[in-house]
Amino acid sequence: MSKPLSDHDRKKQISVRGLAGVENVAELKVAFNRHLHFTLVKDRNVASKRDYYFALANTVRDHLVGRWIRTQQYYYEKDPKRVYYISLEFYMGRTLQNTMVNLALENACDEAIYQLGLDMEELEDMEEDAGLGNGGLGRLAACFLDSMASLGLAAYGYGIRYEFGIFNQKIVNGWQVEEADDWLRYGNPWEKARPEYMRPVKFYGRTEHTPEGVKWVDTQVVLALPYDTPIPGYRNNIVNTMRLWSAKAPCDFNLKDFNVGGYIQAVLDRNLCENISRVLYPNDNFFEGKELRLKQEYFVVAATLQDIVRRFKASKFGSREIVRTDFAQLPNKVAIQLNDTHPAMAIPELMRVLVDEEKLDWDKAWDVCVRTCAYTNHTVLPEALERWPIDLFHHLLPRHLEIIYEINRRFLQYVASKFPGDNDRLRRMSLIEEGGCKKVNMAHMCIVGSHAVNGVARIHSEILVATLFKDFYELDPHKFQNKTNGITPRRWLVMCNPGLAEVIAERIGEEFVRDLDQLKKLLKFIDDDAFIRDIAKVKQENKLKFAVHLEEHYKVKINPQSMFDFQVKRIHEYKRQLLNCLHMITYYNRIKKEPNKHWTPRTIMVGGKAAPGYHTAKMIIRLITAIGEVVNHDPVIGDRLKVIFLENYRVTLAEKAIPSADLSEQISTAGTEASGTGNMKFMLNGALTIGTMDGANVEMAEEAGEKNLFIFGMRVEEVDAMDAGKGYHASEYYNRIPELKQAMDQISGGFFSHKQPDLFKELVDLLMHHDRFKVFADYEAYIKSQDKVNELYKKPKEWTKMVIHNIAGCGKFSSDRTISQYAREIWGMEPSLEKIPAPDEQLK
Ligand SMILES: *Cc1c(COP(=O)(O)O)cnc(C)c1O
Repeated sequence: MSKPLSDHDRKKQISVRGLAGVENVAELKVAFNRHLHFTLVKDRNVASKRDYYFALANTVRDHLVGRWIRTQQYYYEKDPKRVYYISLEFYMGRTLQNTMVNLALENACDEAIYQLGLDMEELEDMEEDAGLGNGGLGRLAACFLDSMASLGLAAYGYGIRYEFGIFNQKIVNGWQVEEADDWLRYGNPWEKARPEYMRPVKFYGRTEHTPEGVKWVDTQVVLALPYDTPIPGYRNNIVNTMRLWSAKAPCDFNLKDFNVGGYIQAVLDRNLCENISRVLYPNDNFFEGKELRLKQEYFVVAATLQDIVRRFKASKFGSREIVRTDFAQLPNKVAIQLNDTHPAMAIPELMRVLVDEEKLDWDKAWDVCVRTCAYTNHTVLPEALERWPIDLFHHLLPRHLEIIYEINRRFLQYVASKFPGDNDRLRRMSLIEEGGCKKVNMAHMCIVGSHAVNGVARIHSEILVATLFKDFYELDPHKFQNKTNGITPRRWLVMCNPGLAEVIAERIGEEFVRDLDQLKKLLKFIDDDAFIRDIAKVKQENKLKFAVHLEEHYKVKINPQSMFDFQVKRIHEYKRQLLNCLHMITYYNRIKKEPNKHWTPRTIMVGGKAAPGYHTAKMIIRLITAIGEVVNHDPVIGDRLKVIFLENYRVTLAEKAIPSADLSEQISTAGTEASGTGNMKFMLNGALTIGTMDGANVEMAEEAGEKNLFIFGMRVEEVDAMDAGKGYHASEYYNRIPELKQAMDQISGGFFSHKQPDLFKELVDLLMHHDRFKVFADYEAYIKSQDKVNELYKKPKEWTKMVIHNIAGCGKFSSDRTISQYAREIWGMEPSLEKIPAPDEQLK
C-alpha cells in the first residue's frame, strides 16, 4: 500500500526543482543556523516564522553574491553593449522562491527546511511583495529583467525605490478601502544600499545663456541614493542588477542661512524633498498631472543617465583606453529602452548632458540621442497619454523646456520640408499642444527622440500606425515596430505550478523552461489518455489547493468541482468587468427560472484594484460584491453559482490563483487592451480563454488555433464601423434583448441593493447613456460564448484536449522570445543561452 504523498514528498520528486544532494542540504542547514544566530540574533526558542524566513532568505542570498560580483566583473572585462531598461514601475512580487528556482536550489532548500522541522510554504508566505507597480506594465518590466538575465544580456533595470508600493486593498462592507503598503517595515534582504554611488539631481532654478554655453543655476539639489537588487538568470550563473533610486536630502539642505529656529525647521523640511520616492502613483492606464509625479519621472532619469555616462566613460570606448571620450560611440555601447513615456525626460536630459555639460554640438548630440533611445507605447487610451502643462515644466525644469522647444523647432522645420504647406499636419505633430493651456505631448517627444517605437501586440502596433501615430508613420515608417509582450515561464510556470511543469517535463524533458517553443512537442500526446489524465489531475489538485487557501484566508467555501472562472486584472471600464457582471446576473436568472435543469456549476472570481480616485471602478467593485451577496446566499442556487471578489489581487495572489483556473476572462472592447499579459499566464497554466479579438488574444488564437479559444464579439473593424456609421445606442440592445433588460432592471431596481435601491444608479446611467466601451453591443455574443463554455465543460476529456492545444501553443508568449526580438531588432545585441563560469563558492 502506498501512502498519499505529502506536499514535501511530492515536490522532492520534481526534477525541475534542482537536486537535493546530501552535501548541499547539510551546507544549507549550517548556513541557515549561522544566519539565525549571527544575522537575526535569535535562537530557536525565540525565533518567529519571520526570523526563519529572513534566515532562509539570507542563506539563499549568499548563493547570489559570488555570481553577482563575477557577472559585473565579466561585463567590465568584456565590455559588451549595455541595455538600460528605464521604468517607473517594477512589479517584482516575491524574490525567495524565484531565486531558488533560477539557482536550482529549490529542492535542496526544501529538504533542509524540512529537516529543520519547518514548513517551506509558511516561510515563503512571510515575504512581502515588492509591489512597485500597478499592473501589466510594471509586471512586464519584471518579466523582462528575468529574461534579459536568462539570455545573457548585460542589462540593468532602473527605477524608483518607492517606500510605499501599490496600496493593499481591503474590502469593507463590499467597498474597496486602501491601506498603505509599508513593505520595507521589516527590512529587505534582497537589496544592497550603495551610498557611495549617490548622485545629485537638480530641480527648479533658471538658465543663463553665456558664451561658454547654457548654465542651469540657482537649482535645488536632491540626492539619489541607489539600492541594488540582484537579478539572477535561469541557471546560467549570470546575475544582473536592478538599481532603484531613493531620494535623500543633502546634509546642507535649507541650512545655508540658518538661525537657531531655522535649523530645526530645516531638518524637518528634509522630508519635502525625500517625498520624491515616498509612494507609487496608483493609476493604471491613467495620467495624473501632479508636480510630484513629474519630479519622480525626472528624478529616475537624471540619476540613471549619470550612471550610464559614468559607466560608458569607464569603458573601452570611453576614456579607459582612448584618451578622450568619444560620444559618437555611445549608441554602439548603450541602448536605452523607455517603458512608456514615463521616463521620456531621458531624451531632453541626455541632450542637456551632451550639449551643456559635454559640449557636443547640437546635431551630433541629437544623432547620438536618437540612436541610443527607443520607446515602447503601452496604450491608445487618450486619458492615459502624458501631456504635461508647460507652466509646470517651466517652473520645475526650465532648461529642459528650452531643449524641448529647440527639438520641436528643428523637427517641425523638417516636417515642413517634407510636407510643404500642410500646416494642420504641423499642428498635429508638434511636441507642444496649443490651446487653453499649452502642454508637452510626451509620446510625440519619445517618437521624435527615438530610433525605434514599438507597440506591445501585433494588433496594437497596427492601430498605433493607423491612428495615434499615423502622421509620424508617414514621415518615418521604418521607426515603427511590434514587440508582442511575453511572460517569464520561470515564475509563471515552474515556480507557481510545479505540478504542471513536472507533467510536461516527464513527456518532453526540461528544455522548455529555457525554450518555450518546445511545448509544441506536447501535441504528440494529444490522444494519450495517460497524459490527458495527468493534466486534468494537476488542475484538480491546484483547484483544491486554491479552495483551501480561500477558506483559510477569506473564510469563503467554494465547490472545487465547479468551473473556476477568473477575471483578475486592474478594475477599468475598458476591461469590461461590467460585461462579466451581466453574465453573472443572466446565469443566476436562468438557474432561478429552471432550477431543475442540469447547469454547469461555476465559481466566478473577480479580483483587481481600483485606482483610489477612480469612482466608477470602485462602484464596479461594489456591484460585484453586491451580486455575490445575493447569489451566494440563494438556496435555490446552491453551489451551482458563486460570485467571489478576490481581495487584494497582486503578483503573489496571481501565482496562487492562476494555476487553479479553468476559464480566463479577457473581454475588453476590441482595440482597447494593448496586449494583456494576464491572458498569457492563464493560457500557460491550462485555462481556456473566453475573449475578444483584442491585444495578444489575437495572437493566442493564432498560435493555439482559433477553435481552441472562445472568441466572441465585435472586431476592431466593426467597432470602428459602428463609430463611423450609425453609432452605439445602448437602448437598442436593452429593448431588443429580454435577458439584458431583466439584468439591467434588477441592477437599477435595487435587486442587489435592497437597503439602497439607487446605489447603482450611476453605473446604470453609464451603461445606458455614455458607455465608451459598448458593453451591450457584445452582450449577446458573450452569453452565447459562455453557453458553449458550459457545454464543453460537461465533456472533461474534450475540455482537457483543448487545454493541451493551448499549452502547446504558448511558446510565442515567453518573454524570452520578446526580449530576443528587442535585442536583435532594436538594441543591436545578440542573446545567448551560454553559461558563464560559476564563481568559486568556497570564497563566499
Ligand atoms: C499579469 C498581471 C497583471 C496584468 O494583467 P492583465 O490581465 O494583462 O491586465 C496585473 N496585475 C498582476 C498582479 C499581474 O500579475
